[in-house]
Amino acid sequence: MRYVATVDGEERIDGRTDPHAHFVCNKCGRIYDVEDTKPTAAETALMGDGFSVESRSVTYYGVCGKCCK
Ligand SMILES: [Zn+2]
Ligand SMILES: [Zn+2]
Repeated sequence: MRYVATVDGEERIDGRTDPHAHFVCNKCGRIYDVEDTKPTAAETALMGDGFSVESRSVTYYGVCGKCCK
């Protein structure tokens, strides 16, 4: 599966190709890789309907651990 991070509307092709999500810190702007290996409920439902999911882009936004301190 191809992995694309969409940050502020910009697509960034990621060096990592294994399934993972991203976390973007609203304070420092850092992008973190987040383990997210399992198919989501939506993917499972799509695959159950015979759809083939080729890529997924999941980005979480918030404040990172460093900025929370
Ligand atoms: Zn931060
Ligand atoms: Zn990544």
